[in-house]
Amino acid sequence: MNDRIDLHTHSTVSDGTYAPAELVRYAKEKGLRAIALTDHDSIDGIDEALAVGREVGVEVIPGVELSTDFSEGAMHLLGLFIDRTAPSFLQRLAVFQAARRERNPKIIKKLQEMGFKITEEEVTAAAGGGQAGRPHFARVLMEKGYVHSITEAFEKYIGDGGPAYVKKSQPSPEECIALIHEAKGVAVLAHPNTLRLPDDKLNGLFERLVNAGLDGIEVYYSTHTPEETVRYERLAAEWNLAKTGGSDFHGKHKPQIDLGVGKGTLRVPSSLLETLRRRKERRPP
Ligand code: AMP
Ligand code: FE
Ligand code: FE
Ligand code: ZN
Repeated sequence: MNDRIDLHTHSTVSDGTYAPAELVRYAKEKGLRAIALTDHDSIDGIDEALAVGREVGVEVIPGVELSTDFSEGAMHLLGLFIDRTAPSFLQRLAVFQAARRERNPKIIKKLQEMGFKITEEEVTAAAGGGQAGRPHFARVLMEKGYVHSITEAFEKYIGDGGPAYVKKSQPSPEECIALIHEAKGVAVLAHPNTLRLPDDKLNGLFERLVNAGLDGIEVYYSTHTPEETVRYERLAAEWNLAKTGGSDFHGKHKPQIDLGVGKGTLRVPSSLLETLRRRKERRPP
C-alpha cells in the first residue's frame, strides 16, 4: 500500500477542486507515499503543498502541466522536479496565463451568442481565486442546468473544435521541453492517448520529442486501456524514456477519477519515482 504514488494531479490553483493542502491530506488518507502537483501553467500551489507534505509525511514533487501546439490532438507535457524560482520559467508561465485570460471572454461571447445566460464573473467565481479554464465554464453550464455533466459540456460546446471552442496560442513541444529543462525539471509526455496519432506516426513523433530532450512518458494513466499501456511501455523501452504514471485527479471536475487509483485499477509504484530522480540527477547542470 505504502509504495504507491501519483505523479499527475490538479488543485484549485488550476482546474482541480481540492485546495493544495486538501489534496496532500487526501493523498495521505489514500496511503500514497508521494504526489506531484501539476497544475496547468501555474506553480502557485506548490509552497502550500510542500508545507503540508512535510507535516503529514507525503513527498510532494513540484510540477506543472503545459499544453503544446499540436494540431492532431492534445499534447500536454509535465514538468516534474521543477525549480520554481527560475526567472525564465516564471516569465513564460506569466505569458501562458495571459493567453488564458485573453481566451476566456471570447468563450463567454460565443456561449452568449448561442443563447446561454453566462457571465465571466460566474466563471471566475467558479474558479474560486485560481485561474479559470474550460472545466469552470463546464461547471457553470452544468449548475445552470444547460448540461447534465462536465463531459456533456465538453462534448456539445467547449471541447476542441466545438461551437464555443476558442483556441489559445500555445508553445511548441520543443519550447516546452527546453523551458522545463531551464527550470531543472524532467519533461514527461502526459497521457499519450490524447495525441490521437495512428501507430505509424507515433515513431516519427517520438523521434522528434526525444531529439528535443524528452525524458519520460506517462505510461500509467487513468484512461489508458491495457493495450495502450503495453504500447507505451514498449515505446518507453525503445526510446529509453523514464516511465511515469498518474491519475490526473481533478476532484469534482472529473468525478469518475480518484487520486492514486484513477478509475479504480491504476497503480503507480514508487520505484518509478526513483528512476525519474536518477534521470534528473544525470542531467547536466
Ligand atoms: P483548458 O486548459 O482551459 O483548455 O481546459 C483543458 C482541461 O479541460 C483539461 O486539462 C481537462 O481538465 C479538461 N477537459 C478537456 N477535455 C475534457 C472532456 N472531454 N471532459 C472533461 N474534461 C475535459
Ligand atoms: Fe485540467
Ligand atoms: Fe492534460
Ligand atoms: Zn492534467
